[in-house]
Amino acid sequence: MASASDTVSAGSGARTAAERKGVVTRFAPSPTGYLHIGGARTALFNWLFARHHGGTYLLRIEDTDRARSTEPAIAAIFDGLNWLGLGGDEEPVFQFARSDRHAEVAHKLLAAGHAYRCYLSQEELAARRAAAQAERRPFRIESEWRDADPATWPEGQPWVVRIKAPRDGATTIDDLVQGPITVQNAEIDDYVILRSDGTPTYMLAVVVDDHDMGVTHVIRGDDHINNAFRQLVIIRAMQAIEGEDGEAGWEDPAYAHIPLIHGADGAKLSKRHGALGVDAYRDELGLLPEAVFNYLLRLGWGHGDAEIISREQAVEWFEIGDVGKGAARFDLKKLLNFNGHYIREAEDARLAGLVADRLGGLDGTGLALLAKAMPVLKVRAADLLELAAGARFLFAQRPLALDEKAAGLLTDEARALLGAMAERLAAEEWAAEALEAALKAMAEERGLGLGKLAQPLRAALTGTTTSPGIFDVLVLLGRDESLARIADQAAMAA
Ligand code: GLU
Repeated sequence: MASASDTVSAGSGARTAAERKGVVTRFAPSPTGYLHIGGARTALFNWLFARHHGGTYLLRIEDTDRARSTEPAIAAIFDGLNWLGLGGDEEPVFQFARSDRHAEVAHKLLAAGHAYRCYLSQEELAARRAAAQAERRPFRIESEWRDADPATWPEGQPWVVRIKAPRDGATTIDDLVQGPITVQNAEIDDYVILRSDGTPTYMLAVVVDDHDMGVTHVIRGDDHINNAFRQLVIIRAMQAIEGEDGEAGWEDPAYAHIPLIHGADGAKLSKRHGALGVDAYRDELGLLPEAVFNYLLRLGWGHGDAEIISREQAVEWFEIGDVGKGAARFDLKKLLNFNGHYIREAEDARLAGLVADRLGGLDGTGLALLAKAMPVLKVRAADLLELAAGARFLFAQRPLALDEKAAGLLTDEARALLGAMAERLAAEEWAAEALEAALKAMAEERGLGLGKLAQPLRAALTGTTTSPGIFDVLVLLGRDESLARIADQAAMAA
């Protein structure tokens, strides 16, 4: 059984709760699925709050549900958090590995009379619940074992440990987001903290881990508000036995329950609203982490009318009290707008690296060309998919396969024009200004608009009808490749 109650991680670099100073927050996902957008935002607010106060941000994997917790989910959560720059400051804590310590606390509460052995069977409980339902009265467990004399404990029968919740008075939580919330203690039941097989319940595990990790601020979804009142029962009972058995530092944490995220239509967020795992935002939507970070930040929190906010600025400005009380609305379009902004801001070499993966990998020359093209590509793209699509022409193999629209442009007349353009351009210095001047002169001589020349030229050079400016395209492709691509199409004239 774990004896050093304040050591929570097996990682060699782990500090003890006592060594950590100031604010300690934690993100505590249950690894039963991917890291979803709501979880990522909870992580972000925990991270920001800790950073703003110069504190520590910890991760805890709540893997006590053995049937539903999976390794791939754990990996996806770390992956998503690292991508967003929200990895923990220390080795993560795995909750299941700490079961002995959780049970230890249950036994201490039992020994001190703050919890009791309850011999009520599942059948009895079900019968009582059904009776309450039939009489239309609320069901609350009132166990006759709460104050039973140990002499009456039935021998050889299974028992659970229930916490003794106070029956009188009320409990108030001064929630940092929701404000003060009061619950009558009579509404809090004597819930199970240790099952009949000796394993701890989730409610107990959370409280013990938060204490042992030295968590000062519990920031989580507002679906956990009711749990806070129940969890406080254990915390207050432990406060009463502090000093015994080496237990120390059992303080009420501060709570901040943040509203859930809803879809743009106000309904609970679902896949239909574009609520995907964080990995899908990266892989399928081609978003940059800083865009998702900025968007999540603005989801339910604001600073004046600032929209584009850097990490540093966010850390400086973040106040948990500024988180809105109402449900935040998820807006995929706005997220994509943020992404377009961050793509334009991003370094060309970095974008080239990200896009290269989507083009199936590039060698050094290819990467350099892609980086060189990035300034004209990135102004036209809202995500990495569009960026990759826009860059594809650079690496297309001759003769180019034309898309339908581009092929439609290449009439016999247009192909003949391509032949003439090739001749004219071949005589020029291969620079944007010179090429532009030459083509303009040619258009004028023929009494044509510049578009009449530029359109077939774009079709021949890129195989499409949308691309960066045609002179940029000519320069990026270079003289030989450009002239060869034009010649390929001109030669097909009837
Ligand atoms: N594991 C819980 C969840 O994923 C969070 C518990 C907590 O933050 O206290 O909803």
